[in-house]
Amino acid sequence: MSPTPSVRENAPGAVARALQRHGGRKDALVQILREVQAETRWLPREALAAIADGIGLTPAIVEGVAGFYRFFHLRPVGAVHLLWSDNVTDRMQGSRALARELCRRLGVRPGEPVVDGAPASVGFTSCIGLGDQGPAVLVDQHQVLTRMDELRVAELADLIQARTPVADWPVAWTQVEHPVHRADVLLGSPPLRGSALRAALARGADATLDEVATSKLRGRGGAGFATAHKWRLCRQAPLPAGATRVVVCNADEGEPGTFKDRVLLARQADTVFEGMTVAAHVLGARRGFVYLRGEYRHLLDELQTVLARRRDDGLLGRRILGVDGFDFDVDIHLGAGAYVCGEESSLIESLEGKRGTPRIRPPFPVEKGYLGQPTIVNNVETFCAAAHVAERGGAWFAGIGTPHSSGTKLHAVSGDVEYPGVYEYPFGVPIAQILHDCGATSPSRRTQAVQVGGPSGLCLAAHEFDRRIGFEDLPTAGAFMVFDHSRDMFETARGFAHFFAHESCGFCTPCRVGTELVVRRMDKLAEGHGSLFDETELRELESLLHGTTHCGLGATATNPLRDTLRHFRPAYERRLRSPTFTPGFDLDAELEPARRVTGRDDPGAHLERRG
Ligand code: SF4
Repeated sequence: MSPTPSVRENAPGAVARALQRHGGRKDALVQILREVQAETRWLPREALAAIADGIGLTPAIVEGVAGFYRFFHLRPVGAVHLLWSDNVTDRMQGSRALARELCRRLGVRPGEPVVDGAPASVGFTSCIGLGDQGPAVLVDQHQVLTRMDELRVAELADLIQARTPVADWPVAWTQVEHPVHRADVLLGSPPLRGSALRAALARGADATLDEVATSKLRGRGGAGFATAHKWRLCRQAPLPAGATRVVVCNADEGEPGTFKDRVLLARQADTVFEGMTVAAHVLGARRGFVYLRGEYRHLLDELQTVLARRRDDGLLGRRILGVDGFDFDVDIHLGAGAYVCGEESSLIESLEGKRGTPRIRPPFPVEKGYLGQPTIVNNVETFCAAAHVAERGGAWFAGIGTPHSSGTKLHAVSGDVEYPGVYEYPFGVPIAQILHDCGATSPSRRTQAVQVGGPSGLCLAAHEFDRRIGFEDLPTAGAFMVFDHSRDMFETARGFAHFFAHESCGFCTPCRVGTELVVRRMDKLAEGHGSLFDETELRELESLLHGTTHCGLGATATNPLRDTLRHFRPAYERRLRSPTFTPGFDLDAELEPARRVTGRDDPGAHLERRG
């Protein structure tokens, strides 16, 4: 497709400026693409070829990188490009109907290309981290619209048709709140502006690492790897000549339903950077990155302000707090819309300007990470907790929570609740307590399910609400989505199946093909064409994906299917009993062999054992 004269005219200058800003570095390719597109709105082949020429890569490689990320457009988009957040909680709040209405008013079709220079293009994207104030829309990937309703949609269509600049749209639409309904150690303390760092310096690097070990702090991204162990491995890794150790903050919280890192970054950015700097002191690192998900571009300016202030205060840069040789600084790298980049090796690939494909390990990032240098990748919340450990000591922190899950955990609560927002509890809190506090326990609500930890986590039924948050029972990265009795849990699981199929990076066959097959089977059931054969196939796929994929995305992609089949089977049975379902099928007889093998009523249990 030929670019319009304006794109053709803008592109060379935009490419030259971006290349100059980044010194023509290959590892800055993702940022270069972002910056060029910010000026040209989409990336015509001529621009990609010029970028390739400027950084010494082939056009095919540059196109491959641009094509990997959802936020890079290789075809024209409208003068305003709107992406509706398409998480299940957005849909529960009516986002699909609102998006359709907007498209009707604008005369466009969702997800379809428009002619260059059209007033608007509209599409859907995965959760944009605003589940507490949806339905939400991402505008040109740098601004968001919250709490959309019919009135706002009508006004928005008028503004777009009048070509009113985004800067002149009502301010209230673009304001993002960061509600905290229960605060504890991390959200209830003032931001740390040097006190933790001074304590770490006074104690020394070795003793600070010992305090982190004593605290039993585990990673808050979900996997729960011991933080001190990760730091120690990085410290011990051989350092190539001229290299440095690297500290990376993973702020790519792409798990649908989570937004707790958004709130931490908005309210406690100093504490996040303080934790990173404490880690740099322990590791002897000179280089740090925050990998900020592209959907959080609206946080960037404020984060840069905090970084600049910390440099002025001697908390970043050269000779931090006057200590010779303690040089460390942080760059913020914006992602470009790829869920898989939340995985640490994919994130590092993306930091290096490549497609976010998970690496084959070993070597692990602690040995060979960013540009081959020993690298730690920790979650936003982990760095916050580490800063508090540095200030107040490991024993104090270990005294909070449970024996195997020390400290507190943030939960991003959304869905059928009175008070959506972030809640911080010590580990060990029961699900029922969170449901009570967020207003999900009124008789009219009758909560039937909670999705803990997002789609890759666990879907709990009401009889499990006495279970407790913690690595002993329910580990979580932070999403807490609540579904009342009116929700169709099959449709919830089907939405998540579509999400995983869309986000699969395609590197390994079981995930690339398996997630797509799950979608087809579930769509078939949704259309009323499914039979028990399809259910059996789904269970086979569930078992297969758990044991054969290259990274955690594929391994957890069928968790919602597994859990909803187990707890909400009537939602599936309703589809099986559709008019096209083969009559005369004896479900009990079909399940009997499985019951004999497992002694359980779960017909998929025998298949799970194969995995
Ligand atoms: Fe990519 Fe999926 Fe394989 Fe992970 S499991 S490497 S996301 S294809």
